[in-house]
Amino acid sequence: MELKLSKRVQSLKPSPTLAISAKAKELKAKGVDVIGFGAGEPDFDTPEFIKEAAIKALREGKTKYAPAGGIPELREALAEKFKTKNGIDYKPSEVVVSAGAKNILFLLFLMLLDEGDEILVPAPYWVSYTEQIKLFGGVPVEVPTKEENGFTLTLEDIKPFVTDRTKVLILNFPNNPTGAVISEKDLREIAEFCLERGILIISDECYEAFTYDGEKHISTASLSEEIKKITFTVNAFSKTYSMTGWRIGYVGCPNEEYAKVLTNLNSQSISNVTTFAQYGALEALKNPEADKFVEKMRLTFERRRDLMVSLLMEIPNVKVGKPKGAFYVFPNFRNYVSCFENDVEFTKYLLEEAKVAIVPGSAFGYEGFARLSYCNSDDEIVEGINRIKGAFERLS
Ligand code: PMP
Ligand code: GLU
Repeated sequence: MELKLSKRVQSLKPSPTLAISAKAKELKAKGVDVIGFGAGEPDFDTPEFIKEAAIKALREGKTKYAPAGGIPELREALAEKFKTKNGIDYKPSEVVVSAGAKNILFLLFLMLLDEGDEILVPAPYWVSYTEQIKLFGGVPVEVPTKEENGFTLTLEDIKPFVTDRTKVLILNFPNNPTGAVISEKDLREIAEFCLERGILIISDECYEAFTYDGEKHISTASLSEEIKKITFTVNAFSKTYSMTGWRIGYVGCPNEEYAKVLTNLNSQSISNVTTFAQYGALEALKNPEADKFVEKMRLTFERRRDLMVSLLMEIPNVKVGKPKGAFYVFPNFRNYVSCFENDVEFTKYLLEEAKVAIVPGSAFGYEGFARLSYCNSDDEIVEGINRIKGAFERLS
């Protein structure tokens, strides 16, 4: 039978990052020796004390519906976290919990966008922004950032793309896929400009825990009370505590009214995030061991970044910078991509020829580059980059 799809979903594409990591896992399960640099998830297990807290909640019968915006203890603990770790003063009633940062973003676009509204999306961008925006009739306006600036964003990059339909700017630092971190000066200039023009900011800070070389993460909403009033601060437990599969994200809203709408959207869609899982998240915020775990992960990622970047630098005709955050590198592979029809074919070649999975730059709106995550052991990083080097040698 012919599918009777709504116009809205007809051009919807699956998440390429999820698709590539699924493909790598499938090949591995079949016994193929694949090295996956595609996945955007930490390779650490969730700490035991977090799991134990969820198990305890489950045993205690925390198995029923919970308040749609999140259990009150978690909203309170998140308001406290925003205060102490981000320097933002949110009331618990301004914080909403939903099924991962991905669903938070989905609800934000649903809440904010009317047909034809323009959203500024700095490119390279994380794959789901543009697809979600289009689902709700919005127009994603790509704002290219520059390789020579390490893909950070400046006010000058943004200005040419602002129109009277511009409603929201997305900020994502530390950045997926480039690992870029923004300076306080640039962030302030951009935020002040948005304030002047009445543009809202969605600040996706999912990778806040992972900054390197002494770089500190700065939350957009912490810059001033006025900026806080135009900013949604999006975050999740997924990356920080290695809890990707738990599906718990949260947002700090400019005021209670927005938070109420998001809560209503939860109540009419997912009802609430899995009740006992929220107790695990609460433990992540309360247990002092959690910070030690995060720091251990951060140091491990920093070391792996150095290793991966130094190995990539040894490959002739590859340009790569040293990102200051997240757990990705985004090298310029144009000299090799040019041997193929496009960068998707190029990454297919690497998967078939070198048995290494990476994500093509075009998935992030930036053709000719590719994203490699370093959520892998040192041995895998060495082996994987060597394989890529070998596959390049066989091309010439
Ligand atoms: N924002 C960015 C920049 C991401 O990389 C991701 C993917 N993890 C998300 C949001 C979604 O996170 P979550 O897994 O919490 O839905
Ligand atoms: N955000 C991660 C990534 O970019 C997970 C995949 C996804 O959610 O699309 O790889």
